[in-house]
Amino acid sequence: MRAAQSTEGAPAIELREVVKRYGAEGLGPVSLAVPAARTVALIGPSGAGKSTLLRLVLGLVAPDRGEVRLRGAPLRPEDHAARRRLGYVVQGGGLFPHLTAGGNAALVARHLRWPEARVAARLGELAALTRFPAEALARFPHELSGGQAQRVSLMRALFLEPEVLLLDEPLGALDPITRADLQADLREIFASLGKTVLLVTHDLAEAVFFAHELVLLRDGRVLQRGSLDALVRTPADPFVARFVHAQRALGLPAGAAP
Ligand code: ADP
Ligand code: MG
Repeated sequence: MRAAQSTEGAPAIELREVVKRYGAEGLGPVSLAVPAARTVALIGPSGAGKSTLLRLVLGLVAPDRGEVRLRGAPLRPEDHAARRRLGYVVQGGGLFPHLTAGGNAALVARHLRWPEARVAARLGELAALTRFPAEALARFPHELSGGQAQRVSLMRALFLEPEVLLLDEPLGALDPITRADLQADLREIFASLGKTVLLVTHDLAEAVFFAHELVLLRDGRVLQRGSLDALVRTPADPFVARFVHAQRALGLPAGAAP
């Protein structure tokens, strides 16, 4: 098939000159390619456009200009099949309060009318993978800890075995210990599944922990893409240096001199 061949070797995710404006705010123009099986972290201050970028990749918002491509194929509005190749952990977790943990995780599979035995088997696999206690699958979100709720969001994102995972501040609201545990588990999961991962965090240390590459956004533009080392040694903009140094100062152990 010619169409399939032309996408061979194409980036898993590609934005070409994408613009999405909300009045004076918004994103773009942004061009960005994420190769298959890599983890890229989007970092930057609040309002930089990180969540908007993920929503554009998901097709939840349409660009005003430019194009999003998945494996070389342009993303079309209402392309539900393409959408299902993407797993999404929404900022804040986004669990439905009236559904149990298992019901939240299996929501799309049930919508697709998977047989219950298959749903149950997949829930079991994912609970083991994400270290979620299987007996808690029957609990409602308000009966879960913050870390457990994020594991449910992750199960939901992984349920249909997507090629790509998009995570929007998946560890944002957790206490430091829970956060460290989930960070370690998440990194292991990314590595073991070999997925393409695009992860949003405002925490530089977390970005470095997860990602092969960092992309620093500000005011809807990519200021710099590269390793932490590149951002530190050759900042492309004075803001890059400010952002990196502000975060590094925060991350130093008590009493350490900057
Ligand atoms: P981040 O996730 O980096 O904090 P967002 O992508 O949420 O940033 O937002 C980028 C900019 O676009 C912000 O200025 C925000 O106020 C604006 N914005 C995002 N979504 C909307 C929307 N639905 N309506 C109006 N403005 C929006
Ligand atoms: Mg956001």
